[in-house]
Amino acid sequence: MSEKQKLIHTGHYLMTNQLAWGTSGNISSRVDEKTMLITASGTFMGDLKEEDFVLFDLEKEKNLSERKASKETPMHTGIYKTRPDVQAVIHSSPFYTTLFACSKEPILANLFIENFYYLENIGYVDYYHPGTRDLGEAIAEEAKKSDVIMMRNHGVVVMDSSISEAVMRIEALEMTCRMIITAKSSGVELHSLPDYKVTEFLEESLYKPRVKR
Ligand SMILES: [Zn+2]
Repeated sequence: MSEKQKLIHTGHYLMTNQLAWGTSGNISSRVDEKTMLITASGTFMGDLKEEDFVLFDLEKEKNLSERKASKETPMHTGIYKTRPDVQAVIHSSPFYTTLFACSKEPILANLFIENFYYLENIGYVDYYHPGTRDLGEAIAEEAKKSDVIMMRNHGVVVMDSSISEAVMRIEALEMTCRMIITAKSSGVELHSLPDYKVTEFLEESLYKPRVKR
């Protein structure tokens, strides 16, 4: 599967699983050290076409294609420049995640396996208008220590070593937020695992190798 086809498939998956909606959100993947593929401006996440991507020069911050790149491009370039290990970035605003981004409610990371693993390093950035250089810079700074960055009153951006791992990260986040809200509204008391058990899992479990920041 080509890189574009993977992104098309991902957009469709995100949409059908309520991890993205409409034209909100954008996805990208690294082509090499200097370039990325990113969705063009105004594209519909669930119905991406081959021509809906632009090739973008990360160093010169220059669009190498005819179409206009997503307005959130500075956020993606900031991440790839700060994090050479990152191969894919997803930005979207799923319902429950965005509810948390619009509140001061903490996101627990001691609930279940994927939750421990994918949400170990949640970061936060304040609200900046979309597409601004300030937002790009704040995200790039936070990406030094986080793989999941909650954007206040906006949504989330996740990054990973592959597009499928980035999907796992956003799905674990949305599921966690939904679980916390559902528990609160239904009166179910959540049982958190003690910190030492979560640390033990991260350091010693056979699940997946831990990526330390
Ligand atoms: Zn946005």
